[in-house]
Amino acid sequence: MSYRDLNPSLRTIMTPGPVETEPRVLRALSTPTCRTIRPRTMEMLRKLFQTENKWAFPVDGTSRAGLEAVLCSIIEQGDVVLVPIYGRFGHLLTEIAQRYGAEVVNMETSWGQVFDPAEVIQEIERVKPKIVAMVHGETSTGCMQPLKEIGEACREKDILFVVDAVASIGGVDVRVDEWKIDACIGGTQKCLSAPSGMAPITFNSRVEALLLQRKNIEQGLAEQKASEAVRSRIIRSNYFDLSQLMDYWSPTRLNHHTEATSMLYALRESLRIVLEEGLEERFARHRFHERALVKGLQAMGLELYGDSRSKLPVVTCISIPEGIDGESVRSMLLRDFEIEIASSFGPLKGKIWRIGAMGFSCRKKNILSVLAALEAVLVRHGAKINPSKGVQAALDVYQEIA
Ligand SMILES: *Cc1c(COP(=O)(O)O)cnc(C)c1O
Repeated sequence: MSYRDLNPSLRTIMTPGPVETEPRVLRALSTPTCRTIRPRTMEMLRKLFQTENKWAFPVDGTSRAGLEAVLCSIIEQGDVVLVPIYGRFGHLLTEIAQRYGAEVVNMETSWGQVFDPAEVIQEIERVKPKIVAMVHGETSTGCMQPLKEIGEACREKDILFVVDAVASIGGVDVRVDEWKIDACIGGTQKCLSAPSGMAPITFNSRVEALLLQRKNIEQGLAEQKASEAVRSRIIRSNYFDLSQLMDYWSPTRLNHHTEATSMLYALRESLRIVLEEGLEERFARHRFHERALVKGLQAMGLELYGDSRSKLPVVTCISIPEGIDGESVRSMLLRDFEIEIASSFGPLKGKIWRIGAMGFSCRKKNILSVLAALEAVLVRHGAKINPSKGVQAALDVYQEIA
């Protein structure tokens, strides 16, 4: 009995993650595993997060491993956590926080919109949480929440501000220090264009102080008979205990779990690519291709979904035209053009398509291909669009710099 070789098609991936892997990252993945490269990787991560924090390292596991590591390490039984929700991933933050014993207070805005920071600050004043946890770029709705004012308000009131920047990091400006973010979680398979399997995080000395307090309690338990209340302060997870991961990532390199060396090589190479390109240049590239894509879609006669003032540059959501079967369009794109775009979840299921233009997937060939293919497929489905206008409008944008 023999098993066939893996032979995946080289499809064009225009989803909001996972995206096409950088060829250099694929090569790095096949490097023989021996040398560890931790200090330099931490240095590059600090630059990615635009922070002077001592701690910046990846957590092994997909992005939600990073969310879980941060939340489980700072949440103690009964802590009040405010999670403003404007899409699917706000619900994930809520769920994780609840599992670790938090009393979560939610506020919601309609999907396709973000919060007015003043509204969140008002709720912070009312709820007086220990932690505020928020998503920066909501891939489910294609929206991006302004964070600076909320971060400043949290710092002023000594509240910890935790941000899910999984979808935005490396594609959009994320200023951890300037926006007073205490802990920030990124992702590898989105704008960094590495495979999934690691979650880069960073946190500051305010978070570190809390972690060390909880670690001391744990160490003290062996010697004294601690009360139930004290005992309950121990971090609930071993794998995700950031105080242990700090030792693991410190110069003493205390062993915690086996290093995911190949993934570390992949992450390191993706960071090298980001820093070689330059953060500003990279953000500008994402905005530029976004403009070509949006102009193309609009010229085709399609309507974008969501409030354009708070659009996440790396994800573009399109309202599915009346009478068109969104899933049939997606499967024809995949079958005949080998191009993958995404649908959405919950209340938006069947209502929108989502096109990601992230990292290595964010390039001219992909933007023009997705526009051309979408035009053809929509004509095939009998949609009333302006055929051939979309690609031309995008080409106009590209010719501006030719
Ligand atoms: C993709 C994504 C996640 C979850 O990432 P996984 O790697 O699937 O665990 C979390 N938050 C946001 C905003 C995302 O876009």
